[in-house]
Amino acid sequence: VLPEISTLPILQLASGDYLSLQVYHFRGDRPGKKAYLQSNLHGCEISGNAVLHELINFLQSLDRTQLEGEVVIVPACNPMAMNARSHHFSSGRYNPYDGRDWNRIFWDYHKVSHDLDEIARDFCELEVETIRKEYLKLIQTTFNRHHDNLDSASGVPLHKRYRYLLQSLCLDANYVIDCHSSSNRTIDYFYCFHDREESAKYFLIDLGIFLESYDGYTFDEAFLKPWLALEKALAKQGRKIIFDLESWTLELGGGMEVNSQSVAKGVRGIKNYLAGKKMLTISGFPLAETHQHQVQFFHKHQLRRYHAVAGGILRDRLPLGSVVKAGDRLYTLLSFHKNGECPREVAIEAERDGVIYDLSLNESVNQFDYVLSIFEYN
Ligand SMILES: [Zn+2]
Repeated sequence: VLPEISTLPILQLASGDYLSLQVYHFRGDRPGKKAYLQSNLHGCEISGNAVLHELINFLQSLDRTQLEGEVVIVPACNPMAMNARSHHFSSGRYNPYDGRDWNRIFWDYHKVSHDLDEIARDFCELEVETIRKEYLKLIQTTFNRHHDNLDSASGVPLHKRYRYLLQSLCLDANYVIDCHSSSNRTIDYFYCFHDREESAKYFLIDLGIFLESYDGYTFDEAFLKPWLALEKALAKQGRKIIFDLESWTLELGGGMEVNSQSVAKGVRGIKNYLAGKKMLTISGFPLAETHQHQVQFFHKHQLRRYHAVAGGILRDRLPLGSVVKAGDRLYTLLSFHKNGECPREVAIEAERDGVIYDLSLNESVNQFDYVLSIFEYN
């Protein structure tokens, strides 16, 4: 299958140069569902680009009959962030112009729809497919109304133009996969919304964070939240529907590096997922191990971030994946003082049992800097 390729300009720079997106749109023989994949929304999170690069090549190697529906792929989806540098480091988590986190800017229908119970009452006798179509129409109309001033004389701030481009590509998708990495060092994991746990198995990633509460204008939330809210409102009317709509953020490896294992896992997981969703017909997929695959889910309240209790240097920090018990030493903090005292060393211990899943890159810390994260067992 050859993709249709389109280039979408994002903005013109002061120098006259343009930044753009390039979109790869694969269409199968038969119409069907739509999957949308993007990578590198945060500047240093580059492994997903390698994943999508492989998937683009892979999809091209398929026969049109092996693809049902459409797959839309946008690698390097945030050139502003991807190109940002501070010395050798990729610093593009925040837009330096306005301070916004690039993954907290997205438009959320749920925030502007105040008559959901009424909508659910109108919809609750309809066929699932009709509900999906009608509600999608509502979302799209409202989305367009909220972005109808992009070409006005007064203009808009960049985040509006940018989110308009990305979200226009996927409002009508069934499945959204946003490939991130840790900004630090991490083991691979993903974020999962409720009632989607079964599908999570297809990614064959061992750790998942279960999002029971969410309110962050992130890309995955902005896509799925309106539908989750509708499901809830319909359930109140006695109609139980789980729409065939899913949204995933995969966290593959650490920042500023392309971790081969994480890339391989991402490619395999996404192929397996698309095969599981019957969009791809490829031999051997979905993989036999999918159904036995156990994801260890953690809730957000089980995540504990450790911050430096004093300024200094970290020594002998435990490696990623270490299983710790309360009281185990996580690292030693060497602090220097400027008040005539000798240097001090403090052992920092785990507050509870758990597994270390993320480490800061920098082992030099100001007081309160982030040091590591633990999934706590309870
Ligand atoms: Zn990210």
